[in-house]
Amino acid sequence: MMSEEGWEEGWLAGVRLCPSPNCGERPKGSEISLLVIHNISLPPGQFGGGYIEQFFTNQLNADEHSYFAEIADLQVSAHLFIDRDGAVVQFVPLSRRAWHAGDSSFAGCANCNDYSIGIELEGTDAQPYSANQYQSLVQICRELLLAYPALSAERIVGHSDISPGRKTDPGPAFDWAHFFAMLADTDTLQERNDE
Ligand SMILES: [Zn+2]
Repeated sequence: MMSEEGWEEGWLAGVRLCPSPNCGERPKGSEISLLVIHNISLPPGQFGGGYIEQFFTNQLNADEHSYFAEIADLQVSAHLFIDRDGAVVQFVPLSRRAWHAGDSSFAGCANCNDYSIGIELEGTDAQPYSANQYQSLVQICRELLLAYPALSAERIVGHSDISPGRKTDPGPAFDWAHFFAMLADTDTLQERNDE
């Protein structure tokens, strides 16, 4: 797999890498043109613990928590994960298709995994996200907007937007107005590697 064309492309610089096997080739001709924002916490409502990395790499121990037994066999992933401190982990190269959206559609185009990048925020629908998470998310989104010409601010959506009735994340706790204001305001940003 390492020799597969494109595999070594699409890793962001300056983030921690945790490669997931849960990915595949994007369909020929698909262009990255959508960013999907999610939330996740494991166990639900708890932060830290490293369980999300285990989950996205198929190493979650079903015996450790009753909820883990329900999900341990699922094979899912996202390209990027931002923890409560704003630290970023990348699981899947952007050039490849991560398994984050499931049954989904945007602007009449189904199967959003084919043409999107999935970003998970550690959190829940109800708890406010941290300032560090907004900062990291905005910085990543700006990098991606520069890298992929088919992306635009109008094409940054929540999972709930592309899978309505089935998914609720990132939830009412995600402040879209705040996020877009930060995204538009270059003065609020620092280099990601700065302290
Ligand atoms: Zn989601």
